[in-house]
Amino acid sequence: MTLIASPVVPIRGRLRPLGLDEVTITGGFWAQRQQVNATATLAHIEHWLEREGWIANFDLAAAGRLPDGRRGREFSDSEVYKYLEALAWEIGRSGDPALEARFRAVVARVAAAQEPDGYLNTRFGRPGQGERWSELEWGHELYCVGHLLQAAVARARTRPDADDGLVGVARRAADLVCTVFGPGGIESVCGHAEIEPALVELARVTGDERYLAQAALFVERRGHGTLRDIEFGRSYYQDDVPVREATVLRGHAVRAGYLAAGAVDVAVEQGDEELLTALAAQWGNTVARRTYLTGGVGSHHQDEAFGDDWVLPPDRAYSETCASVASIMFSWRLLLAQGDPRYADLIERTLFNVVATSPSHEGTAFFYANTLHQRRPGAPATNGPTSNGTVSPRASSSQRAPWFEVSCCPPNVARTLASLAAYVATADDEGVQLHQYAPAAIRTTLPDGTTVALDVETGYPRDGVIRVHVREDAGTPWTLSLRVPAWADGARLVVPGAEEAAVPGTVRVRRAFRAGDVVELHLPVTPRFTAADPRIDAVRGCLAVERGPEVLCLESVDLAAASGGRVDDIAAVRLDPAVAPRAVDGAVVVRLRCAKTTTGPWPYAAPGTGAADDGEELEVPLVAYHDWAERGPSTMRVWLPVAASGGQRTDRIR
Ligand SMILES: [Zn+2]
Repeated sequence: MTLIASPVVPIRGRLRPLGLDEVTITGGFWAQRQQVNATATLAHIEHWLEREGWIANFDLAAAGRLPDGRRGREFSDSEVYKYLEALAWEIGRSGDPALEARFRAVVARVAAAQEPDGYLNTRFGRPGQGERWSELEWGHELYCVGHLLQAAVARARTRPDADDGLVGVARRAADLVCTVFGPGGIESVCGHAEIEPALVELARVTGDERYLAQAALFVERRGHGTLRDIEFGRSYYQDDVPVREATVLRGHAVRAGYLAAGAVDVAVEQGDEELLTALAAQWGNTVARRTYLTGGVGSHHQDEAFGDDWVLPPDRAYSETCASVASIMFSWRLLLAQGDPRYADLIERTLFNVVATSPSHEGTAFFYANTLHQRRPGAPATNGPTSNGTVSPRASSSQRAPWFEVSCCPPNVARTLASLAAYVATADDEGVQLHQYAPAAIRTTLPDGTTVALDVETGYPRDGVIRVHVREDAGTPWTLSLRVPAWADGARLVVPGAEEAAVPGTVRVRRAFRAGDVVELHLPVTPRFTAADPRIDAVRGCLAVERGPEVLCLESVDLAAASGGRVDDIAAVRLDPAVAPRAVDGAVVVRLRCAKTTTGPWPYAAPGTGAADDGEELEVPLVAYHDWAERGPSTMRVWLPVAASGGQRTDRIR
């Protein structure tokens, strides 16, 4: 069995993933973040897992001392597993012996807590605790097993000969799940999907079809009301409509994304075209009607859920970091299955504008929710790495926080960044496809024996030139495919001796490449205005500014600086849409009119008699959304209200 060092390795599909041994990100935006992840974030996560006692829960379990002293929420085991998964990918990427030692130490503590029949959970099953599998709605037992399995899969694919025992731990846990929830067993599902994609991947790693069959059972069971109805409705855990009958993602956004990802896995493995088609349609409807400009999903705070179509308020955006990871998992599987570049477009948007936004530049504080409009500056978190403060509430979004009571997002970011090279490129029988643009070294062998060796050189996303250097001669022709993002009108492809327009979608260059050949893709990363569908009422009359794949935003610190301290109220700005956003000294500048605001007794009036577009006219720099909140407490907005009337305004200036 071939072990490709990638999170998702389907048996069939339009595209074949490349492993971490075949693709390396060698510099630029993402290499820098991978470096911070490796050198700061992983240690930060382990510090907090220890400090909060979430790893020690396994020690207590092994010593027979639970439930006394157990700390953390019912799903805290899963954060330890996600940390192990992140470590496994990072060890696979870098081979760092210090990380290897830490990985083995934590695995040993986890393994010691496993019971003889394979059960592994620190929250259930002992005297004084809830019985095993007795709280499927909220207990997260199968969810935790899922993350254990994904950690083991990452390890098996990056260190197949390792003797740490994690794969054996995972198999025993999965075997128990198949026994308890298989045919004739408990006919239900977990309130939080996650075991579904994990079981399929374990089947792919081990060749054991029982795991795939169990994943398929879980996917088919959901939607038939096996879980209790709750105040949010069964849509919260997608138990309202069978997966193959649903038309859009709904309910809790992380659950919806993980379930959809697992359902794609099942559909691909079983050749279930009907299910795959249904999931692709759900993806399309969700992107078209329920996704923020950033790629983020989930506009309900109360139930962390999707809203109805067009309910995308920027100032109430929940857009949980984990939901964006789940969205990438879903899109990536569809991309492998069907090859449509729109999936890679959404992955890119989500990576740059949610995954890159959550962690601080130092990699030691995180956004859990990712609002698009921060109305209050908020206060810095009081739980710095060396402080004795308490953990932050999960939806606190004014400033990044080092850790949360529910801390699912930090390790989710860590495992995504550590495995990011796996999402850069794929192969098929004809050649290699580049989906994400970063400086990278790629080397793989096509089925006909042709070696493809490429170096990608680019300053993307700030610079739109992607230069692909071919490093080895090919005796026979192969095809280099490059994604042209949907926003890249006016892109150009430059090959030796020719230049041509590259329309959004995919451009292909087929030839018997020679070492030294260079293919260039020129993507226009000129800043641009973006309007929203008018049915997204909350941002009607506003424009956003984007540059390449990056969403930009106005932050109060920049407004204050541009006005010499006279204005810092981002609620008072009006955008002049007649002046295109432009790059000035590396920053993107827009023209704004900034009124001094006064509050009247009543905020409503007859049409046309309300607040005028008066006030000071200023050129104000925007920042990339992923860079906001790095300069102390501030307010911020992505969507800028457009001034009502250009002519009237000009008269007033004079
Ligand atoms: Zn999360």
